[in-house]
Amino acid sequence: MQQFQQYIGGRFEDGSARFDSLNPATGTVWAQMPEARDADVDRAVQAAEDAFFGAEWASTTASQRGKLLMRLADLITEHAPRLAELETRDTGKIIRETSAQIAYVAEYYRYYGGLADKIEGAHLPIDKPDMEVWLRREPLGVVAAIVPWNSQLFLSAVKIGPALAAGCTVVLKASEEAPAPMLEFARIFDQAGFPPGVLNVITGGPNAGATLTSHAKVAHVAFTGGPETARHIVRNSAENLASTSLELGGKSPFIVFDDADLESAVNAQISGIFAATGQSCVAGSRLVISNKIKDEFLARLKERAEAVVIGAPDDMATEVGPLCTQAQRDLALDLIARSVDQGAKLVTGGSAISGAGYFFPPTILDCSDAPEAPCLSREFFGPVLSVVSFDTEAEALAIANDTRFGLASGVFTQSLTRAHRMIRGIRAGIVWVNTYRAVSPIAPFGGHGLSGHGREGGLQAALDYTKVKAVWLRTSDDPIPDPFVMR
Ligand code: NAD
Repeated sequence: MQQFQQYIGGRFEDGSARFDSLNPATGTVWAQMPEARDADVDRAVQAAEDAFFGAEWASTTASQRGKLLMRLADLITEHAPRLAELETRDTGKIIRETSAQIAYVAEYYRYYGGLADKIEGAHLPIDKPDMEVWLRREPLGVVAAIVPWNSQLFLSAVKIGPALAAGCTVVLKASEEAPAPMLEFARIFDQAGFPPGVLNVITGGPNAGATLTSHAKVAHVAFTGGPETARHIVRNSAENLASTSLELGGKSPFIVFDDADLESAVNAQISGIFAATGQSCVAGSRLVISNKIKDEFLARLKERAEAVVIGAPDDMATEVGPLCTQAQRDLALDLIARSVDQGAKLVTGGSAISGAGYFFPPTILDCSDAPEAPCLSREFFGPVLSVVSFDTEAEALAIANDTRFGLASGVFTQSLTRAHRMIRGIRAGIVWVNTYRAVSPIAPFGGHGLSGHGREGGLQAALDYTKVKAVWLRTSDDPIPDPFVMR
Protein backbone atom coordinates (compact mmCIF):
# COMPACT_ATOMS: atom_id res chain seq x y z
CA MET A 1 0.00 0.00 0.00
CA GLN A 2 1.56 3.29 -1.06
CA GLN A 3 1.58 6.17 1.43
CA PHE A 4 1.40 9.87 0.51
CA GLN A 5 2.03 12.99 2.56
CA GLN A 6 0.81 16.58 2.52
CA TYR A 7 3.23 19.49 2.05
CA ILE A 8 3.00 22.47 4.39
CA GLY A 9 5.64 25.15 4.95
CA GLY A 10 8.25 23.14 3.05
CA ARG A 11 7.73 20.01 5.18
CA PHE A 12 6.09 16.68 4.36
CA GLU A 13 3.70 15.26 6.95
CA ASP A 14 1.05 12.57 7.35
CA GLY A 15 -1.78 14.96 8.26
CA SER A 16 -4.33 14.81 11.07
CA ALA A 17 -6.20 11.91 9.45
CA ARG A 18 -5.72 9.40 6.63
CA PHE A 19 -8.06 8.02 3.99
CA ASP A 20 -7.95 5.30 1.33
CA SER A 21 -7.72 6.03 -2.39
CA LEU A 22 -9.31 3.64 -4.90
CA ASN A 23 -7.93 2.50 -8.22
CA PRO A 24 -10.87 3.11 -10.62
CA ALA A 25 -9.75 0.31 -12.94
CA THR A 26 -10.16 -2.28 -10.18
CA GLY A 27 -12.30 -0.58 -7.55
CA THR A 28 -9.74 -1.56 -4.90
CA VAL A 29 -7.73 0.47 -2.39
CA TRP A 30 -4.16 1.12 -3.58
CA ALA A 31 -2.89 4.00 -1.43
CA GLN A 32 -3.43 6.02 1.70
CA MET A 33 -3.68 9.79 1.64
CA PRO A 34 -3.50 12.54 4.27
CA GLU A 35 -6.85 14.21 4.97
CA ALA A 36 -6.49 17.87 5.89
CA ARG A 37 -8.64 18.88 8.85
CA ASP A 38 -9.34 22.50 9.80
CA ALA A 39 -6.08 22.81 11.76
CA ASP A 40 -4.05 21.55 8.76
CA VAL A 41 -5.78 23.97 6.41
CA ASP A 42 -5.13 26.79 8.81
CA ARG A 43 -1.43 25.90 9.09
CA ALA A 44 -1.14 25.70 5.30
CA VAL A 45 -2.67 29.16 4.88
CA GLN A 46 -0.46 30.51 7.66
CA ALA A 47 2.62 29.03 5.97
CA ALA A 48 1.59 30.66 2.68
CA GLU A 49 1.04 33.99 4.41
CA ASP A 50 4.37 33.79 6.25
CA ALA A 51 6.08 33.06 2.95
CA PHE A 52 4.23 35.90 1.20
CA PHE A 53 5.30 38.51 3.75
CA GLY A 54 8.66 36.86 4.48
CA ALA A 55 11.91 38.45 3.42
CA GLU A 56 13.01 35.55 1.22
CA TRP A 57 10.12 35.56 -1.25
CA ALA A 58 9.72 39.35 -1.10
CA SER A 59 13.38 39.76 -2.09
CA THR A 60 13.19 37.13 -4.84
CA THR A 61 13.18 39.25 -7.99
CA ALA A 62 10.76 38.63 -10.82
CA SER A 63 13.61 37.25 -12.93
CA GLN A 64 14.56 34.85 -10.14
CA ARG A 65 10.94 33.73 -9.82
CA GLY A 66 11.02 33.04 -13.53
CA LYS A 67 14.17 30.94 -13.21
CA LEU A 68 12.65 28.93 -10.35
CA LEU A 69 9.60 28.19 -12.52
CA MET A 70 11.89 27.11 -15.37
CA ARG A 71 13.76 24.82 -12.97
CA LEU A 72 10.41 23.38 -11.86
CA ALA A 73 9.50 22.76 -15.51
CA ASP A 74 12.75 20.84 -16.03
CA LEU A 75 12.08 18.73 -12.93
CA ILE A 76 8.57 17.95 -14.19
CA THR A 77 10.05 16.81 -17.50
CA GLU A 78 12.58 14.66 -15.65
CA HIS A 79 9.92 13.03 -13.45
CA ALA A 80 7.16 12.92 -16.09
CA PRO A 81 6.87 9.10 -16.26
CA ARG A 82 6.25 8.81 -12.51
CA LEU A 83 3.71 11.66 -12.51
CA ALA A 84 1.87 10.16 -15.48
CA GLU A 85 1.85 6.72 -13.91
CA LEU A 86 0.40 8.04 -10.63
CA GLU A 87 -2.25 10.11 -12.36
CA THR A 88 -3.29 7.06 -14.37
CA ARG A 89 -3.38 4.84 -11.28
CA ASP A 90 -5.42 7.23 -9.14
CA THR A 91 -7.84 8.68 -11.73
CA GLY A 92 -8.09 5.95 -14.38
CA LYS A 93 -7.10 8.46 -17.10
CA ILE A 94 -5.28 6.44 -19.73
CA ILE A 95 -1.49 6.44 -19.75
CA ARG A 96 -1.35 7.61 -23.35
CA GLU A 97 -3.10 10.82 -22.32
CA THR A 98 -1.41 11.40 -18.95
CA SER A 99 2.03 10.92 -20.57
CA ALA A 100 1.30 13.42 -23.34
CA GLN A 101 -0.37 15.88 -20.98
CA ILE A 102 2.42 15.95 -18.40
CA ALA A 103 4.96 16.76 -21.11
CA TYR A 104 2.83 19.76 -22.02
CA VAL A 105 2.28 20.75 -18.37
CA ALA A 106 6.01 21.53 -18.19
CA GLU A 107 5.49 23.99 -21.06
CA TYR A 108 2.97 25.93 -18.97
CA TYR A 109 5.55 26.42 -16.22
CA ARG A 110 8.11 27.45 -18.85
CA TYR A 111 5.69 29.95 -20.32
CA TYR A 112 4.95 31.53 -16.93
CA GLY A 113 8.65 31.38 -16.03
CA GLY A 114 9.33 33.47 -19.12
CA LEU A 115 6.49 35.87 -18.27
CA ALA A 116 7.50 36.54 -14.65
CA ASP A 117 9.72 39.55 -15.44
CA LYS A 118 7.42 40.90 -18.13
CA ILE A 119 4.56 41.75 -15.77
CA GLU A 120 4.98 45.50 -15.96
CA GLY A 121 3.37 48.48 -14.30
CA ALA A 122 2.63 51.71 -16.15
CA HIS A 123 3.35 55.41 -16.12
CA LEU A 124 0.35 57.75 -16.48
CA PRO A 125 0.34 61.06 -18.41
CA ILE A 126 -1.40 62.72 -15.47
CA ASP A 127 -3.23 66.04 -15.91
CA LYS A 128 -1.14 67.89 -13.26
CA PRO A 129 2.23 69.50 -14.05
CA ASP A 130 3.95 68.80 -10.73
CA MET A 131 3.02 65.17 -10.31
CA GLU A 132 4.42 61.84 -11.42
CA VAL A 133 1.88 59.03 -11.27
CA TRP A 134 2.60 55.43 -11.96
CA LEU A 135 1.03 52.06 -11.37
CA ARG A 136 2.79 49.23 -9.61
CA ARG A 137 1.57 45.70 -10.20
CA GLU A 138 1.79 43.81 -6.93
CA PRO A 139 0.88 40.20 -6.16
CA LEU A 140 -2.58 39.57 -4.72
CA GLY A 141 -1.37 37.58 -1.70
CA VAL A 142 -2.29 34.05 -0.63
CA VAL A 143 -4.14 32.14 -3.35
CA ALA A 144 -6.40 29.17 -2.57
CA ALA A 145 -6.37 26.82 -5.55
CA ILE A 146 -8.96 24.04 -5.73
CA VAL A 147 -8.91 21.41 -8.46
CA PRO A 148 -11.14 18.49 -9.47
CA TRP A 149 -9.75 14.98 -9.98
CA ASN A 150 -9.41 15.05 -13.76
CA SER A 151 -6.19 16.44 -15.21
CA GLN A 152 -5.07 17.86 -11.87
CA LEU A 153 -1.46 18.41 -12.88
CA PHE A 154 -2.67 20.48 -15.81
CA LEU A 155 -5.44 22.31 -13.97
CA SER A 156 -3.08 23.21 -11.13
CA ALA A 157 -0.32 24.38 -13.53
CA VAL A 158 -2.64 27.05 -14.95
CA LYS A 159 -3.08 28.37 -11.41
CA ILE A 160 0.31 27.82 -9.75
CA GLY A 161 2.29 29.01 -12.80
CA PRO A 162 0.76 32.50 -13.16
CA ALA A 163 0.26 32.94 -9.38
CA LEU A 164 3.95 32.33 -8.60
CA ALA A 165 5.08 34.32 -11.64
CA ALA A 166 3.13 37.27 -10.21
CA GLY A 167 4.69 36.77 -6.74
CA CYS A 168 1.71 35.24 -4.90
CA THR A 169 1.92 32.19 -2.66
CA VAL A 170 -0.45 29.25 -2.98
CA VAL A 171 -2.33 26.65 -0.96
CA LEU A 172 -3.50 23.97 -3.35
CA LYS A 173 -6.20 21.53 -2.31
CA ALA A 174 -6.03 18.40 -4.45
CA SER A 175 -9.20 16.44 -5.16
CA GLU A 176 -10.05 13.87 -2.51
CA GLU A 177 -10.96 11.46 -5.33
CA ALA A 178 -7.40 11.18 -6.67
CA PRO A 179 -4.80 13.29 -4.88
CA ALA A 180 -1.73 11.15 -5.65
CA PRO A 181 -0.38 13.13 -8.64
CA MET A 182 -0.54 16.43 -6.75
CA LEU A 183 1.10 15.04 -3.62
CA GLU A 184 3.88 13.62 -5.78
CA PHE A 185 4.10 16.95 -7.61
CA ALA A 186 4.79 18.57 -4.20
CA ARG A 187 7.88 16.36 -3.86
CA ILE A 188 9.14 17.58 -7.21
CA PHE A 189 8.29 21.18 -6.45
CA ASP A 190 10.30 20.89 -3.23
CA GLN A 191 13.46 20.25 -5.25
CA ALA A 192 13.11 23.39 -7.36
CA GLY A 193 14.44 25.76 -4.67
CA PHE A 194 11.45 27.96 -3.85
CA PRO A 195 11.34 29.31 -0.27
CA PRO A 196 9.27 27.16 2.15
CA GLY A 197 5.54 27.93 2.16
CA VAL A 198 5.43 29.44 -1.34
CA LEU A 199 3.40 26.37 -2.37
CA ASN A 200 1.52 24.14 0.08
CA VAL A 201 -0.35 21.04 -1.08
CA ILE A 202 -3.09 19.46 0.98
CA THR A 203 -6.05 17.25 0.19
CA GLY A 204 -9.48 16.50 1.61
CA GLY A 205 -13.11 16.88 0.60
CA PRO A 206 -15.73 19.64 0.81
CA ASN A 207 -14.89 20.44 4.47
CA ALA A 208 -11.24 21.15 3.73
CA GLY A 209 -12.30 23.10 0.63
CA ALA A 210 -14.82 25.17 2.58
CA THR A 211 -12.32 25.96 5.34
CA LEU A 212 -9.73 26.98 2.79
CA THR A 213 -11.96 29.13 0.59
CA SER A 214 -13.53 30.98 3.53
CA HIS A 215 -10.19 31.59 5.26
CA ALA A 216 -9.68 35.22 6.27
CA LYS A 217 -6.09 35.24 5.00
CA VAL A 218 -6.92 34.12 1.45
CA ALA A 219 -6.92 36.93 -1.12
CA HIS A 220 -8.06 34.97 -4.18
CA VAL A 221 -9.74 31.63 -4.88
CA ALA A 222 -8.88 29.92 -8.17
CA PHE A 223 -11.36 27.10 -8.65
CA THR A 224 -11.94 24.40 -11.22
CA GLY A 225 -14.88 22.06 -10.71
CA GLY A 226 -18.62 21.84 -11.08
CA PRO A 227 -21.11 24.76 -10.99
CA GLU A 228 -22.80 23.52 -7.80
CA THR A 229 -19.52 23.55 -5.89
CA ALA A 230 -18.72 26.95 -7.43
CA ARG A 231 -21.81 28.39 -5.76
CA HIS A 232 -20.44 27.23 -2.40
CA ILE A 233 -17.06 28.71 -3.27
CA VAL A 234 -18.56 32.10 -4.06
CA ARG A 235 -20.50 32.06 -0.77
CA ASN A 236 -17.36 30.97 1.12
CA SER A 237 -15.23 33.67 -0.47
CA ALA A 238 -17.77 36.31 0.61
CA GLU A 239 -16.45 35.76 4.13
CA ASN A 240 -13.25 37.57 3.18
CA LEU A 241 -14.48 39.26 -0.02
CA ALA A 242 -11.74 37.32 -1.82
CA SER A 243 -11.76 37.53 -5.59
CA THR A 244 -12.56 34.36 -7.54
CA SER A 245 -11.84 32.78 -10.88
CA LEU A 246 -14.15 29.90 -11.75
CA GLU A 247 -13.48 27.31 -14.47
CA LEU A 248 -16.57 25.13 -14.50
CA GLY A 249 -18.28 22.59 -16.66
CA GLY A 250 -19.72 22.71 -20.14
CA LYS A 251 -22.17 21.25 -22.64
CA SER A 252 -20.17 22.28 -25.63
CA PRO A 253 -21.70 22.20 -29.13
CA PHE A 254 -19.77 20.49 -31.92
CA ILE A 255 -21.41 21.85 -35.09
CA VAL A 256 -20.96 20.09 -38.42
CA PHE A 257 -22.24 21.65 -41.67
CA ASP A 258 -22.85 19.63 -44.82
CA ASP A 259 -19.80 21.19 -46.54
CA ALA A 260 -17.40 19.99 -43.82
CA ASP A 261 -14.43 17.70 -44.38
CA LEU A 262 -16.23 14.70 -42.90
CA GLU A 263 -13.17 12.59 -42.18
CA SER A 264 -11.63 15.40 -40.10
CA ALA A 265 -14.93 16.14 -38.41
CA VAL A 266 -15.46 12.47 -37.46
CA ASN A 267 -11.93 12.20 -36.06
CA ALA A 268 -12.27 15.45 -34.11
CA GLN A 269 -15.68 14.44 -32.75
CA ILE A 270 -14.40 11.03 -31.64
CA SER A 271 -11.53 12.59 -29.71
CA GLY A 272 -13.69 15.57 -28.68
CA ILE A 273 -16.08 13.36 -26.74
CA PHE A 274 -14.29 10.09 -26.01
CA ALA A 275 -10.79 11.34 -25.12
CA ALA A 276 -10.24 11.33 -21.35
CA THR A 277 -13.22 8.92 -21.30
CA GLY A 278 -15.38 12.02 -21.79
CA GLN A 279 -14.21 13.42 -18.45
CA SER A 280 -13.20 16.74 -19.88
CA CYS A 281 -14.78 20.13 -19.26
CA VAL A 282 -14.46 20.99 -22.97
CA ALA A 283 -15.87 17.66 -24.21
CA GLY A 284 -17.80 18.26 -27.43
CA SER A 285 -20.80 16.58 -25.86
CA ARG A 286 -23.55 17.96 -28.13
CA LEU A 287 -23.20 17.10 -31.79
CA VAL A 288 -25.20 19.66 -33.80
CA ILE A 289 -25.37 18.12 -37.26
CA SER A 290 -26.84 19.11 -40.61
CA ASN A 291 -29.79 16.90 -41.58
CA LYS A 292 -28.19 16.51 -45.04
CA ILE A 293 -25.29 14.46 -43.63
CA LYS A 294 -26.69 13.20 -40.36
CA ASP A 295 -27.20 9.55 -41.35
CA GLU A 296 -23.78 9.17 -42.93
CA PHE A 297 -22.04 10.99 -40.09
CA LEU A 298 -23.77 8.95 -37.37
CA ALA A 299 -22.99 5.70 -39.18
CA ARG A 300 -19.30 6.62 -39.29
CA LEU A 301 -19.30 7.73 -35.66
CA LYS A 302 -21.02 4.51 -34.56
CA GLU A 303 -18.48 2.38 -36.37
CA ARG A 304 -15.59 4.28 -34.80
CA ALA A 305 -17.15 4.34 -31.33
CA GLU A 306 -17.67 0.57 -31.39
CA ALA A 307 -14.08 -0.02 -32.47
CA VAL A 308 -12.60 1.98 -29.59
CA VAL A 309 -10.22 -0.11 -27.45
CA ILE A 310 -11.56 -0.14 -23.88
CA GLY A 311 -9.15 -1.50 -21.31
CA ALA A 312 -6.67 -1.06 -18.51
CA PRO A 313 -5.65 2.59 -18.27
CA ASP A 314 -1.98 1.73 -17.84
CA ASP A 315 -1.90 -0.10 -21.20
CA MET A 316 -0.59 2.10 -24.04
CA ALA A 317 -3.04 0.42 -26.43
CA THR A 318 -6.10 1.51 -24.43
CA GLU A 319 -8.18 4.33 -25.90
CA VAL A 320 -10.97 4.55 -23.32
CA GLY A 321 -10.41 3.70 -19.65
CA PRO A 322 -12.70 3.64 -16.63
CA LEU A 323 -14.63 6.57 -15.21
CA CYS A 324 -13.00 7.94 -12.08
CA THR A 325 -15.77 7.02 -9.63
CA GLN A 326 -18.83 4.81 -9.27
CA ALA A 327 -20.86 8.02 -8.79
CA GLN A 328 -19.87 9.22 -12.28
CA ARG A 329 -21.05 5.95 -13.77
CA ASP A 330 -24.34 6.05 -11.85
CA LEU A 331 -24.94 9.60 -13.09
CA ALA A 332 -24.39 8.52 -16.71
CA LEU A 333 -26.81 5.59 -16.35
CA ASP A 334 -29.45 7.78 -14.74
CA LEU A 335 -29.22 10.56 -17.38
CA ILE A 336 -29.34 8.03 -20.22
CA ALA A 337 -32.40 6.25 -18.77
CA ARG A 338 -34.27 9.52 -18.29
CA SER A 339 -33.33 10.74 -21.77
CA VAL A 340 -34.49 7.51 -23.40
CA ASP A 341 -37.78 7.84 -21.48
CA GLN A 342 -38.19 11.23 -23.13
CA GLY A 343 -37.63 9.91 -26.65
CA ALA A 344 -33.86 9.91 -27.14
CA LYS A 345 -32.66 6.91 -29.20
CA LEU A 346 -29.54 4.95 -28.33
CA VAL A 347 -27.28 4.69 -31.37
CA THR A 348 -24.62 2.73 -29.50
CA GLY A 349 -23.50 1.98 -25.92
CA GLY A 350 -25.59 3.01 -22.94
CA SER A 351 -24.99 0.20 -20.40
CA ALA A 352 -22.22 -0.15 -17.85
CA ILE A 353 -19.55 -2.74 -18.63
CA SER A 354 -19.73 -5.55 -16.08
CA GLY A 355 -16.73 -6.68 -14.07
CA ALA A 356 -14.27 -4.81 -11.88
CA GLY A 357 -13.75 -1.06 -12.23
CA TYR A 358 -16.01 1.76 -13.40
CA PHE A 359 -15.91 1.10 -17.14
CA PHE A 360 -18.49 2.63 -19.48
CA PRO A 361 -18.58 2.30 -23.26
CA PRO A 362 -18.63 5.15 -25.80
CA THR A 363 -22.30 6.04 -26.09
CA ILE A 364 -24.28 8.01 -28.67
CA LEU A 365 -27.84 9.26 -28.11
CA ASP A 366 -29.88 10.69 -30.97
CA CYS A 367 -32.04 13.42 -29.44
CA SER A 368 -33.41 14.89 -32.66
CA ASP A 369 -36.94 14.01 -31.50
CA ALA A 370 -36.28 14.69 -27.82
CA PRO A 371 -35.29 18.35 -27.47
CA GLU A 372 -36.08 18.38 -23.75
CA ALA A 373 -34.03 15.27 -22.90
CA PRO A 374 -31.74 15.92 -19.90
CA CYS A 375 -28.75 14.56 -21.83
CA LEU A 376 -28.83 17.79 -23.87
CA SER A 377 -28.63 20.12 -20.89
CA ARG A 378 -26.81 18.22 -18.12
CA GLU A 379 -23.07 17.59 -18.11
CA PHE A 380 -22.30 13.84 -18.02
CA PHE A 381 -18.56 14.05 -17.54
CA GLY A 382 -18.42 10.69 -19.32
CA PRO A 383 -18.16 9.26 -22.86
CA VAL A 384 -21.71 10.13 -23.90
CA LEU A 385 -22.52 12.13 -27.02
CA SER A 386 -25.97 13.67 -27.53
CA VAL A 387 -27.01 14.48 -31.10
CA VAL A 388 -29.39 17.16 -32.44
CA SER A 389 -29.91 17.96 -36.12
CA PHE A 390 -30.69 21.18 -38.02
CA ASP A 391 -31.75 22.36 -41.46
CA THR A 392 -30.51 25.96 -41.51
CA GLU A 393 -27.51 27.88 -40.23
CA ALA A 394 -29.78 29.96 -37.99
CA GLU A 395 -31.15 26.76 -36.42
CA ALA A 396 -27.63 25.46 -35.86
CA LEU A 397 -26.67 28.63 -34.02
CA ALA A 398 -29.85 28.63 -31.94
CA ILE A 399 -29.25 25.00 -30.89
CA ALA A 400 -25.58 25.73 -30.12
CA ASN A 401 -26.55 28.61 -27.85
CA ASP A 402 -29.42 26.75 -26.18
CA THR A 403 -27.42 26.10 -23.00
CA ARG A 404 -26.64 27.87 -19.76
CA PHE A 405 -23.00 26.83 -20.15
CA GLY A 406 -20.57 28.71 -22.39
CA LEU A 407 -17.15 27.11 -22.29
CA ALA A 408 -16.12 25.68 -25.67
CA SER A 409 -17.53 25.08 -29.15
CA GLY A 410 -16.47 23.62 -32.48
CA VAL A 411 -17.53 24.51 -36.02
CA PHE A 412 -16.77 22.34 -39.03
CA THR A 413 -17.36 24.00 -42.40
CA GLN A 414 -15.36 24.84 -45.54
CA SER A 415 -17.13 28.18 -45.88
CA LEU A 416 -15.02 31.06 -44.63
CA THR A 417 -17.94 33.47 -44.48
CA ARG A 418 -20.13 31.02 -42.56
CA ALA A 419 -17.27 30.29 -40.16
CA HIS A 420 -17.02 34.01 -39.39
CA ARG A 421 -20.77 34.30 -38.82
CA MET A 422 -20.67 31.37 -36.43
CA ILE A 423 -17.61 32.74 -34.57
CA ARG A 424 -19.53 35.98 -34.00
CA GLY A 425 -22.75 34.28 -32.97
CA ILE A 426 -21.60 31.49 -30.65
CA ARG A 427 -21.78 32.32 -26.96
CA ALA A 428 -18.72 30.51 -25.58
CA GLY A 429 -15.24 31.36 -24.33
CA ILE A 430 -13.55 29.23 -27.00
CA VAL A 431 -14.48 28.64 -30.65
CA TRP A 432 -12.48 26.02 -32.53
CA VAL A 433 -12.95 26.10 -36.31
CA ASN A 434 -12.14 22.89 -38.20
CA THR A 435 -10.29 21.64 -35.13
CA TYR A 436 -11.19 20.74 -31.55
CA ARG A 437 -9.62 20.53 -28.08
CA ALA A 438 -6.45 22.45 -29.01
CA VAL A 439 -4.88 24.24 -26.02
CA SER A 440 -1.73 26.25 -25.42
CA PRO A 441 -0.15 28.16 -22.54
CA ILE A 442 -0.26 31.22 -24.80
CA ALA A 443 -4.05 31.20 -25.33
CA PRO A 444 -6.65 32.14 -22.70
CA PHE A 445 -9.06 29.42 -21.61
CA GLY A 446 -12.40 29.89 -19.82
CA GLY A 447 -16.10 30.45 -20.26
CA HIS A 448 -19.29 32.36 -19.56
CA GLY A 449 -22.51 31.66 -17.69
CA LEU A 450 -22.55 28.37 -15.79
CA SER A 451 -19.06 27.70 -17.17
CA GLY A 452 -17.70 30.37 -14.83
CA HIS A 453 -15.62 33.50 -15.19
CA GLY A 454 -11.97 34.48 -15.42
CA ARG A 455 -9.40 33.11 -17.85
CA GLU A 456 -6.50 30.70 -17.41
CA GLY A 457 -3.52 30.65 -19.77
CA GLY A 458 -1.94 33.60 -21.51
CA LEU A 459 -0.63 36.92 -20.19
CA GLN A 460 -3.95 38.06 -18.76
CA ALA A 461 -3.99 35.12 -16.33
CA ALA A 462 -0.73 36.35 -14.75
CA LEU A 463 -2.04 39.93 -14.58
CA ASP A 464 -5.14 38.61 -12.83
CA TYR A 465 -2.91 37.50 -9.93
CA THR A 466 -1.80 41.11 -9.40
CA LYS A 467 -3.44 44.20 -7.97
CA VAL A 468 -2.67 47.71 -9.12
CA LYS A 469 -1.23 50.29 -6.74
CA ALA A 470 -1.42 53.93 -7.92
CA VAL A 471 1.59 55.94 -6.72
CA TRP A 472 1.53 59.78 -6.66
CA LEU A 473 4.80 61.69 -6.32
CA ARG A 474 4.89 65.48 -6.14
CA THR A 475 7.85 66.90 -8.07
CA SER A 476 7.63 70.54 -6.91
CA ASP A 477 10.04 71.88 -4.26
CA ASP A 478 7.57 74.65 -3.34
CA PRO A 479 5.91 74.12 0.03
CA ILE A 480 2.36 72.82 -0.06
CA PRO A 481 0.19 75.88 0.69
CA ASP A 482 -1.91 75.89 3.84
CA PRO A 483 -5.38 74.95 2.53
CA PHE A 484 -7.21 77.08 5.13
CA VAL A 485 -5.41 80.40 4.57
CA MET A 486 -7.62 82.69 2.45
CA ARG A 487 -5.82 84.32 -0.44
P1 NAD B 1 -16.44 19.16 -7.88
O1 NAD B 1 -16.99 20.52 -8.09
O2 NAD B 1 -17.27 18.14 -7.19
O3 NAD B 1 -15.09 19.23 -6.99
C1 NAD B 1 -14.02 20.06 -7.36
C2 NAD B 1 -13.20 20.37 -6.13
O4 NAD B 1 -13.97 21.17 -5.23
C3 NAD B 1 -12.73 19.16 -5.34
O5 NAD B 1 -11.38 19.37 -4.95
C4 NAD B 1 -13.64 19.18 -4.11
O6 NAD B 1 -13.06 18.61 -2.96
C5 NAD B 1 -13.84 20.66 -3.91
N1 NAD B 1 -15.04 21.01 -3.14
C6 NAD B 1 -16.20 20.31 -3.02
N2 NAD B 1 -17.07 20.98 -2.22
C7 NAD B 1 -16.45 22.12 -1.84
C8 NAD B 1 -16.82 23.24 -1.02
N3 NAD B 1 -18.03 23.30 -0.43
N4 NAD B 1 -15.95 24.25 -0.87
C9 NAD B 1 -14.74 24.20 -1.47
N5 NAD B 1 -14.32 23.17 -2.23
C10 NAD B 1 -15.17 22.15 -2.42
O7 NAD B 1 -15.96 18.67 -9.30
P2 NAD B 1 -15.48 17.21 -9.74
O8 NAD B 1 -16.66 16.31 -9.78
O9 NAD B 1 -14.30 16.81 -8.94
O10 NAD B 1 -14.99 17.54 -11.24
C11 NAD B 1 -15.84 17.60 -12.30
C12 NAD B 1 -16.26 19.02 -12.64
O11 NAD B 1 -15.13 19.84 -12.90
C13 NAD B 1 -17.07 19.05 -13.91
O12 NAD B 1 -18.18 19.91 -13.80
C14 NAD B 1 -16.10 19.58 -14.94
O13 NAD B 1 -16.67 20.14 -16.08
C15 NAD B 1 -15.31 20.54 -14.13
N6 NAD B 1 -14.04 20.85 -14.80
C16 NAD B 1 -13.84 22.08 -15.36
C17 NAD B 1 -12.67 22.37 -16.04
C18 NAD B 1 -12.40 23.73 -16.66
O14 NAD B 1 -11.25 24.06 -16.88
N7 NAD B 1 -13.40 24.52 -16.98
C19 NAD B 1 -11.68 21.40 -16.13
C20 NAD B 1 -11.90 20.17 -15.56
C21 NAD B 1 -13.09 19.92 -14.89
